[in-house]
Amino acid sequence: MNVVLLSGGVGGARFARGVQAALAPGELTVIGNVGDDVEVLGLHVSPDLDSVLYALADLNDEERGWGRAGETWNALAAASGWGGEDWFRLGDLDLGLHLVRTQALRAGRSLSDVTAQLATVAGLATRIVPATDDRLRTQIVTPSGTFGFQEWFVGRGHRDPVDAVRFDGASEAAPASGVLEALAAADAILIAPSNPYVSIQPIAAVPALRAALEQRRVRCVAVSPLIGGRAVKGPADRMLSRMAGGTEPRHVAGCYEELIDALVIDGSDAPADAGVPTTVTATLMSDLAAARRLAEKALEAAA
Ligand code: GDP
Ligand code: CA
Repeated sequence: MNVVLLSGGVGGARFARGVQAALAPGELTVIGNVGDDVEVLGLHVSPDLDSVLYALADLNDEERGWGRAGETWNALAAASGWGGEDWFRLGDLDLGLHLVRTQALRAGRSLSDVTAQLATVAGLATRIVPATDDRLRTQIVTPSGTFGFQEWFVGRGHRDPVDAVRFDGASEAAPASGVLEALAAADAILIAPSNPYVSIQPIAAVPALRAALEQRRVRCVAVSPLIGGRAVKGPADRMLSRMAGGTEPRHVAGCYEELIDALVIDGSDAPADAGVPTTVTATLMSDLAAARRLAEKALEAAA
């Protein structure tokens, strides 16, 4: 069985671990968001791809929720001491990966190529593919101005309310090599419990990728990132309230119009008319076993 998962960073990575555990090795392809990618200290950082890589390879820090376990922060402290930028937290172990990726990109290799290499080195049978190899950057429109995603999220602590989200470069972006092939070979498509606006919509903003999703011949099932109408972490609930008018399952489903056949929601949000069929289950991924149970429910709904 071939499964394609669309995923953002932390919520997506948690779910990806569960899906990987529920499938046989090599059956999963994760298509990752690159709208959050950022250049820091001359390095190309792909936070969402890395969250997925670290989680699937069991290198992630469960408690902090992002980055690598056993991380130290010496290089960033030294850079800061020399007057370098230090607003974006990069640990020493994490930096090692960014050095390798940045060198490969400067040598003319594609992001998908170097991402595949990293996954192979990590020993993964799961494929991780960026939505696009082209430049696609999420821009956040707020009453105080328009900001690059990380400037808003990290720099300003995602405090500004969001009026709209734009994806710079999306209309000219092509799916990365491997994306359309994976979708064509998929027996089921899943959308992780990621932030719909800034993790999933930038993936679906790549025109040919969106067309492939809309023309799918298999079922596509999304998992809601909200529990009891609240985000487990981050600004998804505030964004839904302001831009969709609420945080009920129908507001989440509304972010995925034409893209999904069913929505998995938490018991605390049921019953609900989401405009698409719903599957009700416990959606809090407190550990790998819980993530796997949620993945199995989503896979059942997609069968
Ligand atoms: P980011 O790119 O690191 O911000 O991560 P994602 O966009 O992939 O995930 C963020 C979303 O994950 C948030 O909206 C959270 O509500 C959601 N999330 C995190 N943990 C859980 C969980 O255990 N269950 C569910 N249903 N959602 C979760
Ligand atoms: Ca992200």
